[in-house]
Amino acid sequence: MKSFRKELWFQTPRRRAFINITPQVEAALVESGIREGLCLVNAMHITASVFINDDEPGLHADFDRWLEGIAPHEPIRRYRHNDTGEDNADAHLKRTIMGREVVVAVTDGGLDFGTWERIFYGEFDGRRKKRVLVKIIGE
Ligand code: ZN
Repeated sequence: MKSFRKELWFQTPRRRAFINITPQVEAALVESGIREGLCLVNAMHITASVFINDDEPGLHADFDRWLEGIAPHEPIRRYRHNDTGEDNADAHLKRTIMGREVVVAVTDGGLDFGTWERIFYGEFDGRRKKRVLVKIIGE
C-alpha cells in the first residue's frame, strides 16, 4: 500500500470565508500516483473546517448567515472562552458544526464524488496562515 501526505496552506483576508479546495486536492491525488484508495482531508486548526457541499455562492451566504444565527461573532463577551482574552469562541463553535474532515473514495485515479459534491475549506477565524492536511492511502 502506498501512502501520501501533503499540507495545503491558506490565509483568508477576512475573518470568515469558504474556499473550494477541490482543485488542490485533485492535484495532490495526481501527485500521489494512487489510483484506488481513500483520501482524507482535514483542517489542522480548531477554528476552521473541511466539508463537502455544493459550489453555489447563494448557499455559502446561507451557511454564513445560519452559522451567525447559531453562534454570532459579537457580542464577544457573551462567550466564556473569550474570557481568556481571545475573541474567537464563535469560530470554535462554527468549526464543530461544519466538521473537521472529509474522506473521499479514490476510484480509477479520481475523487469519486456525487454529481454536485465539492470539497471546501471553511474559515471562521482567518487573517493568518492555516493548514489543511491531505492524506491518501491506497494502490
Ligand atoms: Zn480560541
